Amino acid sequence: MAINTSRRDAAPRRSASGYDVGRIGAAERDRLAKDLSEEERRILLEHGTERAFCGTLLHNKEEGVYACRLCGLPLFRSGAKFESGTGWPSFFQPFDPEHISEVRDNSYGMTRTEIRCRRCDGHLGHVFPDGPPPTGQRYCLNSAAMAFFPEGQEPPQKVAAGQ
Ligand SMILES: [Zn+2]
Repeated sequence: MAINTSRRDAAPRRSASGYDVGRIGAAERDRLAKDLSEEERRILLEHGTERAFCGTLLHNKEEGVYACRLCGLPLFRSGAKFESGTGWPSFFQPFDPEHISEVRDNSYGMTRTEIRCRRCDGHLGHVFPDGPPPTGQRYCLNSAAMAFFPEGQEPPQKVAAGQ
């Protein structure tokens, strides 16, 4: 299947799990960002990283879904969370691979793979190839980039219909 990289986010489209993953516009993003705390803004919009062992979701062991703090797109399930010992919430696979975009990040003299929300482009963290089976991937997240919804609660989708 050919991938059209030029305008792939222009039209609204749905992921395999049924969510609208069309890229939201700048105005919509600004509207959603009004709801963020200073720390959430620093991480999601300015690509910051929270301090290790300080995030509020690190030790969360409840069953449920972790959604994007900015737009509400589900990003990870509790069943894929594992204790990495790094001090950041870690997962071995995403809720839906289409919900996350990967971007090469050469900051700080390292080559890393940044992960962002596919829909709002908010910065989430990084993914490393040293995770546990079955994927071998370690998605390293900032708690402040996510909101947790216990089993049975559907994360509200904050994007306007038709965006
Ligand atoms: Zn998002």
